[in-house]
Amino acid sequence: MKMNGKITRLLKSHLVDYIGFADITRYQDELARFGGEIVRGYKSAVSIGIAIPGSIVDHLPDRSDANVSCEYRTHGYEVLNQRLNLTASFLSSYLNNRNYRTLPIAVADRTDEENALPTVSHKMIAHIAGLGWIGKNCLLITRTHGPRVRFISVLTDAPLRTVDDPLPQECGECEECVKACPVGAIKGRNYVTGEEREDRLDFMKCQKYFEGLKKHRAYPVCGMCLQACPYGKRS
Ligand code: SF4
Ligand code: SF4
Repeated sequence: MKMNGKITRLLKSHLVDYIGFADITRYQDELARFGGEIVRGYKSAVSIGIAIPGSIVDHLPDRSDANVSCEYRTHGYEVLNQRLNLTASFLSSYLNNRNYRTLPIAVADRTDEENALPTVSHKMIAHIAGLGWIGKNCLLITRTHGPRVRFISVLTDAPLRTVDDPLPQECGECEECVKACPVGAIKGRNYVTGEEREDRLDFMKCQKYFEGLKKHRAYPVCGMCLQACPYGKRS
């Protein structure tokens, strides 16, 4: 019997906003490229997302104000990540107790520090699970909250009904994130399956900007490519 309903009920009790089920059997090599052998052999992934409070994101243009950047760093990032890690851990225990193989992936830890890459791309899993598309800003864009959502993934071999077709790319001619980036790191190209992140984003420009902020701000945050997206502003 498929476990989607039981998992959804469990996750909703943790007040998450997004739940998706991805068939990852076709993506084994792609996943292993970053995650190594530990991520191989799972049929599915559960994608879990929590929306960032819009009241925090809306103020990001004033992020030189420590009150704004502290709120974003704390309640727009750190606390949501803790909640996601805990939720993934609960789901993992729930499935393990029923004898399913399960691997909760850490939410924002970079296992490849140089290139800022995690074990598994939570954005990619959310995309395969039908929750949104990869935007020109390289973030996962949902129809309801735009990119204002943080995601985590749990890999498993539990029986799940998965999504057949991911959402199509809906950035169209929009370039709001390109214009909003203070260092011109976003190149304005639509996501194409198989292309490298560098084709769309000059990651080093973004990283250097962030390193510069660290020198003179208590809470170095940017997020302008997240704040500017019209799909998020609508929410
Ligand atoms: S986080 Fe800031 S610097 Fe980095 S890509 Fe987004 S807008 Fe540009
Ligand atoms: S701001 Fe526009 S181009 Fe950038 S991710 Fe959002 S919809 Fe796509």
